[in-house]
Amino acid sequence: MSKIHKERRIPFVVANWKINKLQSDVMDFLEKVNEKVPGEKVVETGIAAQDLFLADMVRATADSPIHIVAENVHWEDNGAYTGETSPKALKDVGAKYVLIGHFERRKFFNETDSTVNLKVTAALRNGLRPIIDVDEDMSTYAQFMDAQPSVAQVSAALAGVSVDQIRKVTIAYEPTWAIGSGEAASADQAQKAAYLIRQTLAKLYSPVIAEQVRILYGGSVTPNNAREIMSQEDIDGVLVGTAALDPDKFLQLVEIAKDPSVPNFDIDHV
Ligand code: PEP
Repeated sequence: MSKIHKERRIPFVVANWKINKLQSDVMDFLEKVNEKVPGEKVVETGIAAQDLFLADMVRATADSPIHIVAENVHWEDNGAYTGETSPKALKDVGAKYVLIGHFERRKFFNETDSTVNLKVTAALRNGLRPIIDVDEDMSTYAQFMDAQPSVAQVSAALAGVSVDQIRKVTIAYEPTWAIGSGEAASADQAQKAAYLIRQTLAKLYSPVIAEQVRILYGGSVTPNNAREIMSQEDIDGVLVGTAALDPDKFLQLVEIAKDPSVPNFDIDHV
C-alpha cells in the first residue's frame, strides 16, 4: 500500500514480558526506560505484563508516555469466573491495551477464534484497545515455506467490530514458528503478511479504514533485525518478547521505530 499512509500511522513498540519478571525487576526496568522513551506522537510504547503488576506499573509510568498492556482478558465484565480478569477491572486500574489471541494462549489455554472475538468485543466495550495476534496459516506455510497470515483469524476476531472501533485495534502478525525461536521472518515475508492483513481489512471495512489500522510484526525481533522489518511499508511496529526483557534493547527498538530508514551503525551502543 502506500508510504504516505505509513507515515501517518504512529509507530508502536510493544514488549510482551509473559511471566518472566518479578516485581523488583519490573520497577528496575521502568526506572531505566521511563524518561528515555519519546512522546507518544513520535513512537507509542507499551509493556505487557502479568496482571498482578499492572496497577503498580500504571502508577510508575504516570509521568511517562509508556502504556500498560494486559496479556489477556476475560470476555465478561464480571461474574463467577474464578482466576480470570475482567475487562472492566483492567480499565479501572489504568491498562490501555490488551493482547488478545496470542499463540501461547491458543496453544496452552485452548483459546479459539470465537473466544478471541468475545474478548476483542469485551475489550472495546470497556474502552481497552485490543492488540490482536494473528498466526501463520500453517498449512500454507508447510506447503510453500512462505508467509501467509491466517485471514480466517483476522475475520473471526473482528466479527461485530464497527468502523469506529476498528480504528482502536492493532493487529500483530506473529508466525508461530518465529515466536521465541530466534528465527524471525524475513522483512519481505513480514511485509507480505502485513499487506495481506491490510487487504483483508480493506475488504472487511474499506481501503481508507485499512490504511488507518496499525499492523505489527512479532517473532524473534531484535535490534539487529528490527530496522529492516520496521522499514516495510505495511509494518507499523513490533511486538517483542525475549529482546524486550532487556531495557537497553527495548530502548534500541524504540529508537529504531522513530525512523527505521536512518541507518545506525553502532546499534548495540545506542
Ligand atoms: C511474543 O511472544 O509475542 C514474541 C514475539 O516473542 P519473541 O520476541 O521472544 O519471539
